[in-house]
Amino acid sequence: MLGLSGARLVDSHCHLDFPELQADFPAVLANMRANGVTHALTISTTLETFPAVLAVARSQPNLWCTAGVHPDERRDGREVALEELLGMAEDPKVVAIGETGLDYYRVEGDTEWQRERFRTHIRAARACGKPLVIHTREAAEDTLRIMRDEKAGEVGGVMHCFTETWEVAAAAIDLGFHISLSGIVTFKNAHTVKDVARQVPDARLLVETDSPYLAPVPYRGKVNQPSYVRHVAEEVARLRGADFSAVASTTSANFFALFPHARAA
Ligand SMILES: [Zn+2]
Ligand SMILES: [Zn+2]
Repeated sequence: MLGLSGARLVDSHCHLDFPELQADFPAVLANMRANGVTHALTISTTLETFPAVLAVARSQPNLWCTAGVHPDERRDGREVALEELLGMAEDPKVVAIGETGLDYYRVEGDTEWQRERFRTHIRAARACGKPLVIHTREAAEDTLRIMRDEKAGEVGGVMHCFTETWEVAAAAIDLGFHISLSGIVTFKNAHTVKDVARQVPDARLLVETDSPYLAPVPYRGKVNQPSYVRHVAEEVARLRGADFSAVASTTSANFFALFPHARAA
């Protein structure tokens, strides 16, 4: 069953294991179908919740997941090891490594552990040949530097929920990365993100919800869900002066090109 326009969309980043979305998960899936959101990538954030993330991905043929520990997740001594990530990534439902990256907004004090953890994730991605899902906030310069240092371009990936400037986007694109836009692009004052949405080359464009957070207009402030990626794609289309159906098919094709393991699984 397809949505109203018949266009198919993929939500490239959501957190389906979170309680807000598990509360009525059959409805979340039904809303995806009703809105033509055919597939979604659910994202790992902690070691402890990875089994639940994997279980969600295994529960449906149109869902996949990632393996990784979020940069906001303090580990107090027991840091994630390269071998541990590789073990998690062995499952065919795991199509990417992350979310990883740097977030200097949320974390105070010494952030060296974030940079070390980010390097470990990039090494794991290169070792298993699965691309990266990268989160960066108020840390663009260090994020790009470590991506170059660790040869992240060898596997590529996506800069998710992108909120940096076009210059940062262009540098990531030069490294072989995709840019994923979230519901933030629908917010009236998100001028920088709207500017990025106009400029990303077709072949590097993705859309996401980052649900249950960051619901797009007209649901701003409510619990977000993958079906709302439609509103993200509609705004991106408007900004680019493109047809909604063109943005839907381009971003869906880009998703499967970037995550070839999703095509196979
Ligand atoms: Zn994130
Ligand atoms: Zn996320």
